[in-house]
Amino acid sequence: MANIEAVIGLEVHVELNTSSKLYCSCKNIFGAEPNTNVCPVCLGLPGTLPRLNKQACYHAVKMGHALNCRINRISRQDRKNYFYPDLPKAYQITQADIPLCENGYLDILVDGNVKRVGIERIHIEEDAGKLIHDGSDNTLCDYNRCGVPLIEIVTKPDMNSSAEARIFLENIRSILLYIGISDCKMQEGSIRCDVNVSVHEAGSPVGTRCELKNVNSFSAALRGIEYEIKRQTEIIGKGSSIERETRRWDDKNGISILMRNKENAEDYRFFPEPDLGTIALDEKEIAEIRENMPELPNKKMLRYVKEHGLNDSEAFIITSSPDKAALYDECVRLQRCSIRSAANRIVGEITKFMNDTGKSISETGITAEELCEICSAHEKGLISSSGAKTALEELIAHGGRTEEIIKRMGLEQNTDIAYLSELADKVISENERSAADYRNGKKSAISFLIGQAMKASKGRADPSKIRNLIENKLKKGE
Ligand SMILES: [Zn+2]
Repeated sequence: MANIEAVIGLEVHVELNTSSKLYCSCKNIFGAEPNTNVCPVCLGLPGTLPRLNKQACYHAVKMGHALNCRINRISRQDRKNYFYPDLPKAYQITQADIPLCENGYLDILVDGNVKRVGIERIHIEEDAGKLIHDGSDNTLCDYNRCGVPLIEIVTKPDMNSSAEARIFLENIRSILLYIGISDCKMQEGSIRCDVNVSVHEAGSPVGTRCELKNVNSFSAALRGIEYEIKRQTEIIGKGSSIERETRRWDDKNGISILMRNKENAEDYRFFPEPDLGTIALDEKEIAEIRENMPELPNKKMLRYVKEHGLNDSEAFIITSSPDKAALYDECVRLQRCSIRSAANRIVGEITKFMNDTGKSISETGITAEELCEICSAHEKGLISSSGAKTALEELIAHGGRTEEIIKRMGLEQNTDIAYLSELADKVISENERSAADYRNGKKSAISFLIGQAMKASKGRADPSKIRNLIENKLKKGE
């Protein structure tokens, strides 16, 4: 089969972290007892009227600025009509024709190259409730999530692989964390997406797309995209054509299942929401939000690469979480250690700790001052590289003062020449074979000898001094 190309577009739904819901004053929190955060408005009882939460609009505008969108001063709210048990009103208030934000883009870094992904629109809408299938024949309804504010980010079909989609989603997640409009807890459903996938032979027009629903994690999105590319490629390979379909992603079994085809496509009968006016923002409000935007991760990343000499992957790891970047920025500002060693420790031990434990930097309690102290102790030769690692791990695990940890754990490097010289003699005499190898021209044998010296000194021997001593002694004996 000729070269197959895939075209991918995403619709990302993000729950906003406002304190109340989109059209009523019920609390917007996750995990409460079922049906305790509900009122006549979000239950859609007759005679009630919705009232817009302006904060949700400001959050959407923030994301609009972050994704380089045009912000519409006037936008409209519409009803999307459909019946489902999780939607007691039998319609969802969303934005159809005129969304809050339109026509933006996000530049992502793919294999070192900048790729621009177009953003068609960002609009606000309310979430539906949740159905709980309790394992018996019963289905239970929890309406706490009804009316929780969402933004939907719709991309142009600009991505061509699951890898690009993953990078895009990771970028979106980190931007959301930087601008602080969502807690981004995937396991609580704070970010969900629908995926559009089509395939075509290279040089042919773009194929018919299928939409995947029920994609509840980034990894599910990747698996779903891979599966769809394979499924559609096989159909084309057999000489058949792709039908326009909406399919449900079954992550447990790793397959997509037909939900409805074009003939059965739902007609939502969109019409302007009569109970709410248009959303009007003035230029001042929009400009004020723009002025208060923090430096965004992609911009930070480029700055770290260009100005600090970090490589792409280091810059990506540090900027992936706003508090990691803040720690790094503070170390750079303090100038008490080199940028290089601060970056090494954050990319290394600190990231490892965060990944292993799922904790944030603030939960580790580590400050830039302490991190700089460890780095500079290493730079001054007071502790070895492995000593710095041990000290940092201790600091993260139990807190304390750097100086005290170095003393208490005996991490100070031994630079005493008499001691080191004796150690070098001992290592050479105990490892005659490696010493002979070195003398016979196998220069790499020195690494083993240094390793033995480090081991014998429990990591405290000054590695560069012990290297010089061993080298000189071996040369003398030649
Ligand atoms: Zn309510």
